[in-house]
Amino acid sequence: MDRPSPFEAGLTGRCPKCGEGPMFSGVLAIAPRCEMCGTSFDNADVGDGAVVFALFIVGFLAVVLLMLMQVAFGVPWWVHLIVQVPFIFGVSIAILRPLKGLLFALQFHHQAEEARLDD
Ligand SMILES: [Zn+2]
Repeated sequence: MDRPSPFEAGLTGRCPKCGEGPMFSGVLAIAPRCEMCGTSFDNADVGDGAVVFALFIVGFLAVVLLMLMQVAFGVPWWVHLIVQVPFIFGVSIAILRPLKGLLFALQFHHQAEEARLDD
């Protein structure tokens, strides 16, 4: 059984070992194990890593959109509110799951885990 690339498995939300079973048990919850190959997902934990990356990406895009709207069209403040709030929520929701999947698959691929003492 060939392992899928962590990018392929992570971005599609598939098991990083077999590439078949789903990685998620909910919208953003990592499943306890792969339904297809039984691999445990317990030792990889991405924590808030995906949220930090999403925050940086969405924040940058929101500021670019805000500046474009203000400089190009000079829109009033309430138009920013009407455009920015759905934009920020929509892009955040759209990129969080692939980002979390990618970080999880990269952790799994590189066997990254918490540091511990040898004894
Ligand atoms: Zn699997």
